[in-house]
Amino acid sequence: MFQEDLLKGRRILVTGGGTGLGRAMVERFASLGARPVILGRRAEVLADAAREIEAAHGVAVETHACDVRDAAAVEACFDRIWANGPLDTLVNNAAGNFLARSETLSPRAFDAVVDIVLKGSAYCTMAAGRRWIAAGQPGSVLCILTQSALTGAPFRMPSAVAKAGVLSMIRSLAVEWGPKGIRLVGIAPGSFPTSGASGQLAPSTLAGAVGEETVALRRNGRLDELADLAAFLVSPQAGYITGEAIVIDGGKWLQGAAGPGGVAMQGWDDARWAATRAETGRRSK
Ligand code: NAP
Repeated sequence: MFQEDLLKGRRILVTGGGTGLGRAMVERFASLGARPVILGRRAEVLADAAREIEAAHGVAVETHACDVRDAAAVEACFDRIWANGPLDTLVNNAAGNFLARSETLSPRAFDAVVDIVLKGSAYCTMAAGRRWIAAGQPGSVLCILTQSALTGAPFRMPSAVAKAGVLSMIRSLAVEWGPKGIRLVGIAPGSFPTSGASGQLAPSTLAGAVGEETVALRRNGRLDELADLAAFLVSPQAGYITGEAIVIDGGKWLQGAAGPGGVAMQGWDDARWAATRAETGRRSK
């Protein structure tokens, strides 16, 4: 799909790059010649991922253990990263999420999600942007949102408000930093099975309500599909896209918006349509 050297030599930091979607993006970037940097809280997870990616793609992967909720730690981490050379791209992917009735949430539970997703993304973005601006260097930021940044999400309210805040950051800074050559874009994924997402958001008690039948294209996303979109968005070929978030969800949120009637009619046969036309008096040509 891409020229092999699409991202050659580019230093791309992926927060949460040791697992799940983050790791899939790192693998894709590495396969296109990038020099990945990965960040997360668990050093051993990062080290294992780096070793495997290096073996598979023959590129060096830099790892940094850091908690993005801690502004001072992020600043110190970006100093260490920049000591090895400037980044070209930041991918804000680290997140936390869980299911809960919002009236039962403690302030600490609310903060646990908002601190990672909203504050962590902002701390990392400001740390990178400050350095790019000081050096007069262009850069790009890709934020992994969720479709709930656009629609809201009952029982996942802290994540929805935090991701909506990140989308607002994308739109704000696209204009503020555009004249400095810094692009900000987002991806809003639907369902991409990862152990992180499945463990937190798809318990067996929800069986039947979160399956592939809830997606217009009748399947969950594949990690390589998301990684390809990310590779395009961070590449020079997407150089005129900024302030925009792209939904990749197989039509899931639109199917939800269509309502139960629209969804039920997806499975109707000719006899059912004929009965419906007879009852409503409509003719189809
Ligand atoms: P995941 O594997 O659980 O990824 C979360 C990553 O974030 C982990 O590597 C984790 O590493 C890191 N992280 C968490 N808290 C951190 C912190 N305080 N500081 C630094 N790193 C932290 O889940 P995933 O499914 O791949 O999700 C990745 C992204 O995709 C998230 O932004 C998520 O909202 C988004 N998304 C996923 C789906 C899906 O269906 N999978 C759908 C929509 C959106 P440590 O625990 O080692 O810190």
